[in-house]
Order: sequence, then C-alpha cells, then structure tokens
Amino acid sequence: MANVKIFLAILPLFFASFHGSTTEDSHEFDWNKHHDNKELKDIMVAVNERCPEITRLYSLPEKEHENVPKTTVNNNKLWVIEFAKQPGTHVKGIPEFKYIGNMHGNEVVGRELLLRLMDYMCTAYIQQKDDDRHINWLIENTRIHIMPTMNPDGWEIASTSDADGYQNGVSNWLAGRANANGVDLNRNFPDLNKIYYKIHNQPNHPNNHIDQHFEVMQLLEQANASVKFERETKILMSWLHTVDFVLSANMHNGDLVANYPFDETLDGSAHKYTASPDDKTFRDLAKSYSYVHRKMGKGGAKCEEKEKEFKDGITNGANWYSVPGGMQDYNYLSTNCMEITLELGCDKFPAADKLQELWLDNIESLFNFMFQVHTGVKGTVTLPDNWLDETYTNIHVKDMDSNSDIDHDIIPSKDGDYYRLLSNGRYVVSAVVTDKNGDEVARCDKNVNVNNDHATSKRQVEPKQAQVVDFDFTDSSCAKKNDAEYRDYYYDVRDYLRNMLNRGNKYVGY
Ligand SMILES: [Zn+2]
Repeated sequence: MANVKIFLAILPLFFASFHGSTTEDSHEFDWNKHHDNKELKDIMVAVNERCPEITRLYSLPEKEHENVPKTTVNNNKLWVIEFAKQPGTHVKGIPEFKYIGNMHGNEVVGRELLLRLMDYMCTAYIQQKDDDRHINWLIENTRIHIMPTMNPDGWEIASTSDADGYQNGVSNWLAGRANANGVDLNRNFPDLNKIYYKIHNQPNHPNNHIDQHFEVMQLLEQANASVKFERETKILMSWLHTVDFVLSANMHNGDLVANYPFDETLDGSAHKYTASPDDKTFRDLAKSYSYVHRKMGKGGAKCEEKEKEFKDGITNGANWYSVPGGMQDYNYLSTNCMEITLELGCDKFPAADKLQELWLDNIESLFNFMFQVHTGVKGTVTLPDNWLDETYTNIHVKDMDSNSDIDHDIIPSKDGDYYRLLSNGRYVVSAVVTDKNGDEVARCDKNVNVNNDHATSKRQVEPKQAQVVDFDFTDSSCAKKNDAEYRDYYYDVRDYLRNMLNRGNKYVGY
C-alpha cells in the first residue's frame, strides 16, 4: 500500500489542474473578446508592469541595422514579451524558446491564446501557488519569448472585412491573410530547402546555418529578381539570428493539427512526405502538443468531410501540402531552432464567445510544448583561449539505434552552451572543431542514452533539465589532432553555389 500512496501523492504535483484555476487569471482583462492592436499592446504593457522582475517588453528589431525595418508596412511595431529569471540576457545553460501568433492576419486564435498565456504566467508567478509550481520552474529555467502577432497589418484588414464587426467572427477566408503589401509571409522566407536539397547528397556538405555558409540573402535576391523580402520577414530573420532559439511554434488556423518539417517537397510535387534529418524528434515534438490538446490528437479532428484524418493529430508539412519559403523550414535550416506549425482549429477568426473553449483546449498543450525545450541533451563546449578566434564548433549526432548520422548539426552560442533536442534513444554526441577552411582539427565523442520521460507525458512527476553533456577541449579527453590527422569536415561549397546561382557574393548581414 505504501507504494500506491506515494504514486498518488506524486501525480497531482505536475499539471495538477489548469482547469481549476483558469478563471482566477481574468482579474483585469476580458478574455471573451478579440483584442485589437492597441489593446494587445496594452495587455503586454500591463503584464510587464505587474511582473517586472521576470518579464521584459520589447519591439523588434532591438538593434538598429540598415537592412532591418523598424515597423511593418502600416507602421505597426512587432512586440515581444519575454519571461525569464534574468530578462534581457542569455544565461549560459538556459534554453531560449518562442511562440509566434497571428502570422496570417486572419488566423487569430494564437494571438488571443498568447495574450492570455502571458497574463496567466505572470499571475502564477505572483501567486506562487503549489499547483502552479511547474510554471514557476519553467520561468526559472527557460527564457520564453512570446510574440502574439507577427502580422498586425493583416489583422487590421481581416477585422475590418466584416460589415458586422469581428467579435462575432469573420467569415471571409482570405482577407488579411497576407501583409499590407498582399504578400503571404509564410511563403516569403529564403527558400533554403532548394539549396539543401541540391547539396545534401554531397560528401561533407554544410547541414546547418545554410544561409550563413552561403551568404544566401544576397545570392537569392540577385539570382531571382522576383524575390523580395517583406518588412515583417526581414524583422523576423534579424530576430532569429539575434537570439539562439532552441524550440518554437508558430500558430495558425484553418485546420486542427501539429505540422512539422520539412514543409517543402524535394521534387516540387504538391504532396509528398519529406522527412527532415530530425524526423523522429520532430514527430515527438508535434505529438507533445497534439496528445495533450483536448481534441487535436484524438482522431476525427478534421475540418472537411472529404479531408483525410491526421493520425495522432500531426502531419509532415510537405505530405500535407508543399510550402516553399515557409518560416518553419527556414528556422531549421538557418538557425539551431526547431519550429513546428500549429493549426489551432478550423475556424480562422472564430466568434469571441468561442475563445474560452479554445483556451481550455490548448492550455495544457501550451505548457507541455514549452517543457520540450528541456529534452535531449545540453552542455558547454570549452575551448582553449587561443582556439577561439580560429575555429568553429559543430555538435554532431549519430543515432546508434538506426546506426546513422543525423545530417543536422547545431552550433554552440558564443558563450559555449548548446542545446540538442533529441527523442529517446542511444546516440553518440560529438563536438567537432574545425578550422576556417572546414578541416576537422579536434573532436570529442560521447555515448549518450536519452530518456525524455520526464518531459513528454502529460502527467509529469517533476520537471527536469535536459541531460548535461559537456565537452572540454582544455583537458586530455578532447585533445587537438596532429596536422596529419586533419580531414575535411565541411568542404567549401560557396564557389559551387555561386556558380549555381551565377551571381556575386556580397554579404548581407541579417
Ligand atoms: Zn496560416
């Protein structure tokens, strides 16, 4: 009997009940209405003022850059609120997470959920209730960035497209989807897939931060005069390269499913399963949202009769329909960040009286997904001081269960910390140090068993950090190689790419 008692005692500690306390956070704001762009900003300011120790409100870009606009086409700013123990700074060992809502201006559920989420987290922090201690753990151990709208101009177009006003919902399926220039932002990111698909069978090809290897912005713009990056796209790209994000979701409407990379097919066909090198991990990440959602993972969740059901409430993006130039694949190929796309319901702009139900559908998933940033492995790479300016480090992973290399390395932050999300299994995790020519000069391999059970089920016992795997090249376990042992890790394919695109090479620093 003793064991049973312990079991019962542990269960409610985590995710005890969001439902019980959901009404207590509505002390100040009305969550049964849609919030316009001014009200959205007011809520963010109010949350920041109520929780100044753990939040920071900022607009993008944070640093001026000649190539990065300061506002959207209609002069709106893109606002972000950050939750962290030390807002405003990256802390070594603390992973960076983001949620982005309302990329398509007429898909508004994410926007409202994220506003309520930030208020809910702030309230949990102030009240310090035992039921909410996992939320406070999350704030202590994560840097969470929340952008409720990426397309405020589109929202304005959508919300004025209905003569009866928008609180009763908007039925127009397309008005406000694009930005004020009429461009779909989720088709407007650099199409790195096409480059990756061209090189991925070549030996020693770069498999991460593709545009930084290839200076791709300029190349793409020159190679194809029709490519023009929108103001919102440039602002987002600059943000993605400023913060070392590890995990992200961007929120849409029009269906009910968690969508994971790749989003673009290899051969240009309209629908074909296109696995990314991290397919296994991405499927787990998508399930961490869909399974905990009240409806998404339950089956039968389809918006049209003729549509086929999404098994487990997840889908490979390209298998559903191919999206070239999407933000999700850009995150994966251009940064360390693994992003999924959440479709939060059939109705793109539902009536305001549906928002409470949508909140209850999503609240546990919203937290469970954030906890996934603490899965896989993390650690620090320590290099001798005299290597710092002359080397690059990649974190490479070999999956020992399938005996295959995962063709997607990540790179440590400038502080030396790294985060490698991985699904359960046996791996060899390696820190590979190269010189500027891409020649491997040092390498350290570690056998790792990943067991994410602490963060993948709904009823978690206690939140935990990801397993720590450090690499120290200042001691003998990770020594530098002799010159004779050098080998190509990356070959320099810039010339190849330049020839392919038949253009120049001036770097554009996004
Ligand atoms: Zn959308």
